[in-house]
Amino acid sequence: MPTSFFTPPRGDRYALRNATVPACLVEPPALRASADGEGLCQADLLIEGGRLHGVLPAGSLPAQAGPDLDHSMVLPGLVDLHTHLDKCHIWPRKQNPTADTAGAAQATGEDREARWSAQDLRVRMEFGLRTAYAHGVVAIRTHLDSLAPQASISFPVFRELRAAWAGRITLQASSIAPIDVFLTDEGRRLADIVAESGGNLGCVTRFRGRPNVPAPPEFDTALRRLFRLAQERGLHVDLHVDETGDEQARTLAGVARLARQDGFAGHILCGHCCSLAVQPEADMRATLEACRAAGIDVVSLPTVNMYLQDRAPGRTPRWRGVTVLHEIRAAGLRVAVAGDNCRDPFYAYGDHDMLDTFVQAVKIAQLDRPVGDWVAAACAVPADIMGLPGVGRLHAGGAADLIVLRARDYSELLSRQQGDRCVLRNGRPIDTTPPDYRVLDALMVA
Ligand SMILES: [Zn+2]
Repeated sequence: MPTSFFTPPRGDRYALRNATVPACLVEPPALRASADGEGLCQADLLIEGGRLHGVLPAGSLPAQAGPDLDHSMVLPGLVDLHTHLDKCHIWPRKQNPTADTAGAAQATGEDREARWSAQDLRVRMEFGLRTAYAHGVVAIRTHLDSLAPQASISFPVFRELRAAWAGRITLQASSIAPIDVFLTDEGRRLADIVAESGGNLGCVTRFRGRPNVPAPPEFDTALRRLFRLAQERGLHVDLHVDETGDEQARTLAGVARLARQDGFAGHILCGHCCSLAVQPEADMRATLEACRAAGIDVVSLPTVNMYLQDRAPGRTPRWRGVTVLHEIRAAGLRVAVAGDNCRDPFYAYGDHDMLDTFVQAVKIAQLDRPVGDWVAAACAVPADIMGLPGVGRLHAGGAADLIVLRARDYSELLSRQQGDRCVLRNGRPIDTTPPDYRVLDALMVA
């Protein structure tokens, strides 16, 4: 059983002295001037009434104010912008025989049709939320498989869990279905369910049973219909785009073009965008410029992309599967990293742990030398995209939702598992023990 290496003092007011914090996440910005080459600086954090009351240069507070962290890192609560809680943990009963994307979609569809009752979803989604909470995640957006009749089963469970978890995890949802549902009345009904649920309107930008490349001639009509349905209901849009290593896949450019042509007023978040990484440089840059002009944000799912992309039996993968994170950021777009799937046919592994997602993203996409601002891709940037002001940052007045690590710098953080982290919510430590897999056993019977 994991035990936190650190316990804060009792009481409502105390300081964490000599903490190492990412400069990009602190307010006031004056502290940032003292950042080292990796973008870390030293601070004293004053906690009062469950809030972060002050973020001060290290050495500002006297010894009696609270414990000396001896340079342990402190991060804000982390934010998982793109998950599939409705799919999570079905792996023991439904595996992916080919471990590729087609096999994942097939296996998940079979399991959904046979097993996804409200109760099955409730237990698995709750398991995912409990796990994420124990690891220090404070906000999650989940996609919900929405082909009829599933949306009318899953969205009510989401609403119930959102209410039950309010104050612990801020929960958002997005629909996901093949884009061709927006050519039929099912698309309108889905938009209504999403609107009733305060969700985001989403789809995967490909047609059922048809290849991604070339895009079917009805693509523009379907996407425009989605934009119109979203616009009429004041919804934001969250899409699965070009999750493929096919260099001909150009859906992202199409999304940017149509969003501008139609003057879509909401936010647009595009997930995956893997094919950007295998396109000619000029095409990739032109697409990023079009996305910037359309105000599109991107979320990359590194662990799942590396698992699914470039997979063939008996052959070693030749590329990492991830999109061009460095180029996206350099082009002026907001880019986040997120966990995506967890122990399901799209990804056999995962533990709803955004710290692990960040660590793996750094290694998969070389978000280092220096790490610098990239840590924000796991907290402040996704919080901004989710519309959660102040979340994922270390600033006076924000909630004292903090993760205290034994690691003192990125070398220690990225090298050793941080299973002994201390998670503070509103300034008080929580139980960091994730739920036991055994609680799912009854659902896993074949
Ligand atoms: Zn996804």
